[in-house]
Amino acid sequence: MERFARKEDEYKIGWIKRFMEYESMIPGFREEIMNDPENTLKKYGFPLAVEEVSFLPSDPEDIYTLRPAFPESDASKYADFMRTKISFREEIKEAGTPANDMMRKWHKRQKGRCLAELGARSDVLVYVPFTIELADGCSVGCKFCGLNAGQLKSVFRYTDENALLFNEVLSGVKELIGDGAGCGTMYFATEPLDNPDYEFFLKDYVRIFGKIPQITTATALKHTELLHRLLKEINEEGKTIYRFSVLSEKDALKVFEEFTPEELVYTELIPQYENAPQSGFVNVGRKGKDSGEYGDTISCVTGFIVNFSRKTVRLTAPTYACEKYPTGEIIFETAEFTDAGSCIDVMKAMISKYMSNIIGPKDRVRLKTGLTYRTEGDEIIVEGGKGARFNIAASEGSDIYKEMLVLFSSGYHTKREIVAQILSRYEGMLVRSDTFHYAINRLWELGILELESGKV
Ligand code: SF4
Repeated sequence: MERFARKEDEYKIGWIKRFMEYESMIPGFREEIMNDPENTLKKYGFPLAVEEVSFLPSDPEDIYTLRPAFPESDASKYADFMRTKISFREEIKEAGTPANDMMRKWHKRQKGRCLAELGARSDVLVYVPFTIELADGCSVGCKFCGLNAGQLKSVFRYTDENALLFNEVLSGVKELIGDGAGCGTMYFATEPLDNPDYEFFLKDYVRIFGKIPQITTATALKHTELLHRLLKEINEEGKTIYRFSVLSEKDALKVFEEFTPEELVYTELIPQYENAPQSGFVNVGRKGKDSGEYGDTISCVTGFIVNFSRKTVRLTAPTYACEKYPTGEIIFETAEFTDAGSCIDVMKAMISKYMSNIIGPKDRVRLKTGLTYRTEGDEIIVEGGKGARFNIAASEGSDIYKEMLVLFSSGYHTKREIVAQILSRYEGMLVRSDTFHYAINRLWELGILELESGKV
């Protein structure tokens, strides 16, 4: 993969990015710019021309593509940079596909289920199959915490014994899941920089997986010295994104003072305070509970999270946040381990237990709530209210799928009932029942069926 930006363009891109950050984080800035663009740029010390920060409203069909008002200006470099970052998300999704056969099919089904539940929002999730937590809890206690992280209880220090465990687990996971395991992070419901030994673990992680894991930190201003070092590393590489959660306007101004625009070219600043012109709150976890309204998810893991501090493995996948899943994640199981061998054994057991990719004879199945289907030419289109869309091509036997969808839309049926009902209509004709079993499993693989047992 190429760098997100050419070295020689980073200065200008960094400054245009900072301009955007002022717009999203500093109340009143946008109004000043609208009233007097030239003098406002001067007043705030932006070495930019008005043309370089002028963008047309985005196309509603393509909201992620920036449209420079003056395409010959350096605004185009910024637009290209943003486009490259977005395509990188697609690359991560692809690279994170597990090599383990059962897990790969399960992973694909979970992505389909997320599309059915979350619609277009599911597209921004990266579905990494493996992630690490280096602490038990989090020191920050953000009131909006989407994962409802508990208070910091302990951190997993880089002692000889712990380093050995860490290295053995990562190597074992790489063997089990493949290189895609390296698409994750070393934080989840934790603050990565709570661990004073983060840098040591980072070196081992990079050696094993060949990738720098992304960081999202809410403590950038507490760890400036460390971050100046870590940013140097990602800026040299030009292919990793870090994120700073910024908790107040005052902190935003301090971040601008401490880190140059060029230094933060690969670091996104996420405004997480009420008076920010564009705050990034999602109604999940503590924020969902406080607002009395759940929805969406921020969970990017579809696989295993190893918490080294608690010595646990949990199997998780994203879902639409609700009373039952307040943090927007389904936690299938959490199990303890004692050493690297037992950690990998726990994962193997979870693969066998939760990742069966066929519908059993006693499973009662229906079309997922909220989905409907229709035919369009030779295709069957299954759709959901939030923009989900699945195409089932006629080449796969559209009549059989149509009949199945009629039955699956009417309520729960077992595989045997479905096969018997459809076969009765084909009486006298030579139709192999394994065609139906294949078709049912194919719909299950797409993530558009739901089981009465709640299995997903
Ligand atoms: S949002 Fe992140 S930093 Fe804030 S409490 Fe949750 S885990 Fe900690």
